[in-house]
Amino acid sequence: AGVGSQKERVVTEEEWLQKWEMGNIGFHKEQGHPLLQKYMDVLLNGRSGLKIFFPLCGKAVEMKWLADMGHSVVGVEFSEQAVKEFFSEHSLPYCEEPVPEISGAKMFQSTSGNISLYCCSIFDLSSSIVGKFDGVWDRGALVAVNPCDRQRYASLMINLVEKNSSYLLVTVSYDPNKHKGPPFYVPDSEIKSLFG
Ligand code: SAH
Repeated sequence: AGVGSQKERVVTEEEWLQKWEMGNIGFHKEQGHPLLQKYMDVLLNGRSGLKIFFPLCGKAVEMKWLADMGHSVVGVEFSEQAVKEFFSEHSLPYCEEPVPEISGAKMFQSTSGNISLYCCSIFDLSSSIVGKFDGVWDRGALVAVNPCDRQRYASLMINLVEKNSSYLLVTVSYDPNKHKGPPFYVPDSEIKSLFG
């Protein structure tokens, strides 16, 4: 029981794609997340022209916020539907191209060039493909990764950030005996051991 009850749970790529197809996307916030508004200064820290990463991005509207502020945004998301909905819902023209380093992956980029969304698993990415980031907005990402992949996820994220980066992480607090997740319950103690 407890946190242990979620340890073995696995949500497959097919299940995520199905959620998008069915419109079963209660996690999507049309108005954006109030916590990003609140902590925007912490993320940006007075800097301009940053490279911001949105892991497991869905069609998060906050990507548009950051791009409109002059930053460049990179996201990664399994669902091509989500990525296309992002661009169409913001009336942003885009082009798509294959990613030579990742077989089967596509990259969707706004014509203006400041938003690039990779359609593949986050575990296919590396800093040699996407470079390193000055800031991360991790909402519905660490908590959506299967518990068995958490360590790998954290190591990858540590690899994808610059030395002087800011990382905003949103977690959810609830009794893991009562819900199977996702979002999964990731206790603060575990976050400390994952990210050091
Ligand atoms: N961060 C977004 C979406 C959260 S839901 C928001 O705040 O709205 C998690 C999303 O991650 C889903 O859209 C799912 O399709 C995607 N996803 C889950 N595992 C993934 C993985 N390993 N690689 C890429 N995308 C993934």
